[in-house]
Amino acid sequence: MFVIDKEKCSQCGECQDICPCGAIVENDDGSFSIDKDLCADCAVCQDVCAFEAIEEIEFAEV
Ligand code: SF4
Ligand code: SF4
Repeated sequence: MFVIDKEKCSQCGECQDICPCGAIVENDDGSFSIDKDLCADCAVCQDVCAFEAIEEIEFAEV
């Protein structure tokens, strides 16, 4: 699964625009999160993020 590192994220919204599953949601504070129930693990968001803020992690770590 993929997670967004809020420390690195610039809140540009590029990943939300490109996610084919609508899995990236904007939070009330302007930060972005990935809904793991919607995410298809396609990695498109990771490729588009210019800030390397999206990391793939093992499900067991969550
Ligand atoms: S593309 Fe990267 S920097 Fe932009 S909102 Fe998504 S995670 Fe944050
Ligand atoms: S890995 Fe794919 S489905 Fe999951 S949040 Fe990123 S772009 Fe969306």
